[in-house]
Amino acid sequence: MSERIIPVADHRLLSTAPEVPDVLEEPDGLLQDALARPLHDLRISVTDRCNFRCVYCMPKEVFDKNYAFLPHSSLLSFEEITRIAKVFVAHGVRKIRLTGGEPLLRKDVERLIGMLSVLTTPEGESIDLTLTTNGSLLARKARALKDAGLGRVTVSLDALDDAVFKRMNDVDFAVSDVLKGIDAAHAVGLGPIKVNMVVKGGMNDQEILPMARYFKGSPFILRFIEYMDVGASNGWKMDEVVPSAEVIRRIGAEMPLEEIEPNYTGETAERWRYQDDGSEIGVISSVTRAFCRDCSRARLSTEGKLYTCLFATSGHDLRALIRGGRNDAELATAIAHLWRRRADRYSELRTASTTMPDTAVRKVEMSYIGG
Ligand code: SAM
Ligand code: SF4
Ligand code: SF4
Repeated sequence: MSERIIPVADHRLLSTAPEVPDVLEEPDGLLQDALARPLHDLRISVTDRCNFRCVYCMPKEVFDKNYAFLPHSSLLSFEEITRIAKVFVAHGVRKIRLTGGEPLLRKDVERLIGMLSVLTTPEGESIDLTLTTNGSLLARKARALKDAGLGRVTVSLDALDDAVFKRMNDVDFAVSDVLKGIDAAHAVGLGPIKVNMVVKGGMNDQEILPMARYFKGSPFILRFIEYMDVGASNGWKMDEVVPSAEVIRRIGAEMPLEEIEPNYTGETAERWRYQDDGSEIGVISSVTRAFCRDCSRARLSTEGKLYTCLFATSGHDLRALIRGGRNDAELATAIAHLWRRRADRYSELRTASTTMPDTAVRKVEMSYIGG
């Protein structure tokens, strides 16, 4: 396959070579960034490709047949991913989420899951290994994923009405196939399963109530996500964001709700439960109620760049370190050095000013670093 030339404005070219301090340090699991936030969560994008073209993520006009996806040689191998993940676990990561693009499109992803599932914390405990998927291949792959050692899945589904869903995914994919995927995942025990719905005002907000009714009382936890200004392709406008407070108001008017305590510090979703049957929903208020203060997430791109914020404009090239022959101690020291200097809080700044922080530099696409 011939490689295409990537345009100069491509965000993927913006990266820095991480510094490796001379004095090496042993990870002690207690790493904190400049705002005293630990490193608990690692999201790994295993492919930048997807079989959907969701309008808020990979709009067709940008991600068309001329779009230069990464060539295979750029991708981290499973061995490289596992090596990096192991260092992150030594630094305190307790949860690893595979994402993309569509992670189930990565060839033999089960093999990677098998390799990650045996990682243990310094205390000998297994890590929480999960995956976010659009569900299109889940019915076919659920059993193999479970057998490989995956703990649970989160499935994205933006509508129950076929016409609305097809307008969102823009590739004519039917709702029933995603529902079959969710059921298959449930049947093999890949739970608790969360179902994520991105709400884009004027596009699918009329589906809030049908989705809430459908999942109420089911084993699945439905979560509503505010449409975010990630990347530089989706033409985001503030007036297309439906605030979580409005989602709760609409559902609560028909099915009364009460707020419940978070499961842990740093949980992105605010939890609510129905007063009649106690079943749970969540809202992720990424725009109207920023949760940067407790953000303990690092993101590893498909080609091995570390992003310390979803809204970062450049990454730190860990692949260059490992392909340059650096050992694990050097890798761990470089990551510690980076994390200690981390001061990202994009969403808080955006919320505080109500206008956008300076976006003159192109933000990285969600399909590249994963949601
Ligand atoms: N393809 C998989 C999927 O859709 O679940 C995994 C990758 S996708 C980038 C991860 C999550 O990000 C999905 O739940 C998706 O709905 C969400 N997402 C993508 N673009 C978004 C945006 N602009 N605002 C809010 N959420 C977004
Ligand atoms: Fe693909 Fe997921 Fe992005 Fe939709 S949200 S285009 S399914 S990566
Ligand atoms: Fe974390 Fe950045 Fe999102 Fe804030 S804006 S919650 S720092 S990823």
